[in-house]
Amino acid sequence: MNSVLRIPEEQWDEMRKHVNDHAPLEACGLLAGKNDQVEKVLLVRNQAQSPVRFVMDPYEQLHAFEWIESHGLDLVGIFHSHPAGLENASATDIAEAAYEVVSVIWSHNHNGWKARGFWIQDGKVTDVSLLVGNG
Ligand SMILES: [Zn+2]
Repeated sequence: MNSVLRIPEEQWDEMRKHVNDHAPLEACGLLAGKNDQVEKVLLVRNQAQSPVRFVMDPYEQLHAFEWIESHGLDLVGIFHSHPAGLENASATDIAEAAYEVVSVIWSHNHNGWKARGFWIQDGKVTDVSLLVGNG
């Protein structure tokens, strides 16, 4: 289990733009890197095209996994958005968590977008600190 995930500003902004562009639908993608360091954001289409649910397009997800492997990186996170504002992992997120990586959830309220990190495993949710910046 990871307790922190380090995200460079460029990748942070790329995620935020992606989830903002797709609101009010949920948006999603993968984070590749090493250990607790994000190096690359891979955007994946939300096949569900829903404001309350995401299902990664299987073809794009496979393509992203191939990219990660061919670049010698690992899957270190999965991100998606809650445009309606829920900051925490939903019951569906907990039930459907399939990979032992950090879940980054972007939520939207009157102050704009914010993101929180979670480790979801065996029905349990633990907070993960997101450290943003290049330092
Ligand atoms: Zn969710």
